[in-house]
Amino acid sequence: MEVNKISEGKTKIVYDFDKDHVLLRFKDDITAGDGQKKDILEGKGVLNAQTSAFFFRLLERYGIETHYVGMKDERTMIVKRLKMIPVEVVVRNIATGSIVKRLPIKEGEVFEPPIVEFFLKDDLRHDPLLNYYHMEHLKLMSRKEAQYIEDIMIKVNDILSSFIKNKGLILYDFKLEFGRLDDKLVIGDEISLDSMRIRNANSRIFDKDLYRKGYDLKTVKASYEEFLKIITS
Ligand code: 5GP
Repeated sequence: MEVNKISEGKTKIVYDFDKDHVLLRFKDDITAGDGQKKDILEGKGVLNAQTSAFFFRLLERYGIETHYVGMKDERTMIVKRLKMIPVEVVVRNIATGSIVKRLPIKEGEVFEPPIVEFFLKDDLRHDPLLNYYHMEHLKLMSRKEAQYIEDIMIKVNDILSSFIKNKGLILYDFKLEFGRLDDKLVIGDEISLDSMRIRNANSRIFDKDLYRKGYDLKTVKASYEEFLKIITS
C-alpha cells in the first residue's frame, strides 16, 4: 500500500494508514533545546519505538487507554487516529530540568505529592507554562478535561514509577501528550528516554539529558540500549 505522509516532527513522521489509524515512524534524529541542537543517532528510532511500545502495553494492562495498537515494523507503530492537543503534560517526582530554573526549587528536591504541569508545544516561545485559564482561552482544553488529565498523569506516574523502581532505577519526571478520539482523551505520542528522566541511586543519567549535557552519541545510544534491555528483561 502506498502511504501518504500526514506530518513530520523533529523525531517522528505520521503516515496515513486506514480510516481509524495512522502510522508513527520513529526517526533516528535526536534533538535538544527546542531543536537548536540536533544529530542523527543511528538505531535510535528503533530503540524509542520499542521502549514506547513497551510502556504503552504496560499502561494498557493497567486499563489506561493509549493510542497504541501494534507494530508495523521495528520502528513504526500502528496507532489510533487522534486529534492531538498541542500541550505537553509533565509529572515531576524529583526536581531537575526547567523547574529548577523557573522557581526557587533546588535540584534533587522531592515532590510529595508529585507536581503536574502543562506546557504549550511552541518551540519559538520555548514551550511556555500554561494554567487552566490559558488553556481555556486558547481553546486547548476545558478545566474539567485538564483535571481529568491530571488524574491520568498521577495514575500513569504510579504505574511507571513502581515499575522502574522494581528495576532498581528512579523516575524523576516524564512528559505525555494527549489527543481526542471522539469525546475521549487518549494518551498519544511516545514514552521513551527522550521524554522521561531516569536515574539510578548514584544519580547516573540514562535519558536524553546525556545528550542535552553534551555526552558523546555513543554513550547516549549505549544508555538507550541498556535501558531497553533492563525494562524488557
Ligand atoms: P523540563 O520541563 O524539565 O525540560 O522537562 C520535563 C520532562 O518532560 C522531561 O522528562 C523531559 O524529557 C520532558 N520534556 C519536556 N519538553 C519536552 C519536549 O519538547 N520533547 C520531549 N520529547 N520531552 C520533553
